[in-house]
Amino acid sequence: MRTVQRLVGAPDGLGTAVIGIPTGAELELDVRLEAVTEGVLATGTVRGRAVGECVRCLEEVVDEVDVPFQELFVYPERAKVAAEDGDEDDEDLRELDGDLIDLEPVLRDSVVPALPFQPLCRADCPGLCSQCGARLADDPGHAHDLLDPRWAALTALADDDETKEG
Ligand SMILES: [Zn+2]
Ligand SMILES: [Zn+2]
Repeated sequence: MRTVQRLVGAPDGLGTAVIGIPTGAELELDVRLEAVTEGVLATGTVRGRAVGECVRCLEEVVDEVDVPFQELFVYPERAKVAAEDGDEDDEDLRELDGDLIDLEPVLRDSVVPALPFQPLCRADCPGLCSQCGARLADDPGHAHDLLDPRWAALTALADDDETKEG
């Protein structure tokens, strides 16, 4: 059994359209590698800093990611046997490449689902003003003295009546 601690640059695509760990940003890996009958079992955690945008007000959102992962990397011989047996469940077995394991797809599979689906700068973010686009969290008393267009139409009718009477 071996324990490995590594700082690596984040690979491409470690995130969604709205939030993700920027490519090249620091990822902290803590991995325990265990030799098992079928291959090598990698268990560990990945830590990093995801950056995105609040879906309501577009303010930057930073999310500290700290997720566990576990993956079995099988010896290529084993993977071949499984494939020949037509074992459907083993189709996406990850193979050992000599002494190397490729953690990148494993990181992606653990980090991406852990990210917020709709990032928010804060849980009760009031979003943007529909009239002028101002960020309401910065200006809670924000309001406009605009007349509702429906009332404006009524005012016009009232004016007409006065004209007739007069
Ligand atoms: Zn927000
Ligand atoms: Zn406004």
